[in-house]
Amino acid sequence: MTDTKVEDGIFARFDGRAGPSLAGLCGDLLADQKRTWPSLAAGHEALAAVRLRDIPCPGFSVRVQFNPQRIVSSTARVDPESIRKRKCFLCSGNLPLPQKGILYRREYLILCNPAPIFPRHYTIASLNHVPQSIDDHLDVLLLLAEDFSGDATVLYNGPRSGASAPDHFHFQAAPSGAIPIEGILDEKGRKKRILRVDGTSLSRGMNLGRPALIVEGSDARGVVDLTLVVIDEMRKVLQEPGEPMMNILCSHWESGWRVTLFPRGRHRPDMFDRSGDEQVLISPGAVDMGGLIITSRERDFRILDSKMVQAVFRDVSLDEAKTTALVRALQGKKSRTLERFGNRVGKVEARP
Ligand SMILES: [Zn+2]
Repeated sequence: MTDTKVEDGIFARFDGRAGPSLAGLCGDLLADQKRTWPSLAAGHEALAAVRLRDIPCPGFSVRVQFNPQRIVSSTARVDPESIRKRKCFLCSGNLPLPQKGILYRREYLILCNPAPIFPRHYTIASLNHVPQSIDDHLDVLLLLAEDFSGDATVLYNGPRSGASAPDHFHFQAAPSGAIPIEGILDEKGRKKRILRVDGTSLSRGMNLGRPALIVEGSDARGVVDLTLVVIDEMRKVLQEPGEPMMNILCSHWESGWRVTLFPRGRHRPDMFDRSGDEQVLISPGAVDMGGLIITSRERDFRILDSKMVQAVFRDVSLDEAKTTALVRALQGKKSRTLERFGNRVGKVEARP
């Protein structure tokens, strides 16, 4: 059910694949918001002026984007005290008057990001103010990726891994192929198989400068279950009772889903906390871990080099010893272990 405030902000509804495509509806929303919401139009004008630079690193390359309007997000205070004090910008009752969204399967509002990194950059926010947590939302992640099939990749930032609203559950969507690792993972020799269960595979990314675990398959339940196994094993290896730190990219094509998970060890790299000339403001989320590194200050954009990129990835990723332990533990899994995760996947539209 939606309350009056949500109703006021609905531009269109998406309940399934029978009507217009989700990508088409989002395109209509974006065009409308550029006309009716001056801040959004200004955000997209600023995006047209961003600068890009490729940085070759050993075994891989990244792209760096100088995008001054991201300063708010990259320096956002996300400690519990600061979060408590600020008004939640994803709650439908707090949205600016001109901001409209697409009601997605009755439970989420798809919004245009007013400080975009991409020409089509959406935030998919839960209608409820519930914290960022992936376990119970993997089914929706896959469903969204399927509804955006071939058009957009869906992103998840863990509450301590780049989410600027850790208190309000949300995903983001970026144009397919806009994040460098998506193309890199299609290259030969980039994935080393760890496990295969009934047609769903788990692999480790190779020569990427940061650990990445990749789940691929055409069966939604298999992909969700194997991803849950990875997260569960991360909890054990890290002795972390809550959600292990991570970023996720999820895309869908005719051949099925690909979930790319970056296990994290820290929120921000050393260079973020240094002072004066030593400070570089990079605060990695899923986009940056995917190889599109966002800098909001021109100096940071200019000085960033291969060594610094490697340091960023090393500082914020799960360390090598723990990654090795995690991969070993996953290699030891047998399909029998996966059975207890059965029935965890359920389509969102089937919920009461
Ligand atoms: Zn909220």
